[in-house]
Amino acid sequence: MDLKSHIRDIPDFPQPGILFRDITPLLANPTSMQYSIDLFAEQVAGLQPDYIAGIESRGFMFGMPLAYKLGVGFAPVRKPGKLPAAVHSATYELEYGNDTLELHQDAFPAGSRVLIIDDLIATGGTAAATADLVVQTGSTVAGFGFVIELLALQGRSKLPEAPVTVLLQY
Ligand code: AMP
Repeated sequence: MDLKSHIRDIPDFPQPGILFRDITPLLANPTSMQYSIDLFAEQVAGLQPDYIAGIESRGFMFGMPLAYKLGVGFAPVRKPGKLPAAVHSATYELEYGNDTLELHQDAFPAGSRVLIIDDLIATGGTAAATADLVVQTGSTVAGFGFVIELLALQGRSKLPEAPVTVLLQY
């Protein structure tokens, strides 16, 4: 299936100069939605994760069905102030300023293998901060999975050593 035909390009969103890769048409079409989850599951199953960490919020949309399909647990990585129990935090740099992500301290038992999922990797800062959170819980990063990779930004180079799975590249 041509998954790219289900990605909508929106110029200048959320800021001038950004070409936003919108995955909502892919999710709205049941065939492309099921196909993308099935393909994702097939490609990451060999990593044998114990848990999936999905990054707020589009990482939830792919991470949760993937966890269901692989038969593993799921933990949300969230923006500050959203998780109710004790959290670990990781702050990372954006083009202008910083951003912070949080993960429950007891999200995984120590020593778990955690697969990190998001819809898209651009500069890699978000996924690298999530890897930092996973390590803070005493677990290891089994791999990273993204629906879309923006190759020009070389986000992979920011990630710690672990397999990277992507469905589409631009
Ligand atoms: P980065 O930390 O630069 O790798 O940015 C990745 C995060 O920002 C992901 O959660 C994406 O959903 C979002 N993102 C960054 N750039 C884009 C883009 N061009 N289109 C859609 N989402 C993007």
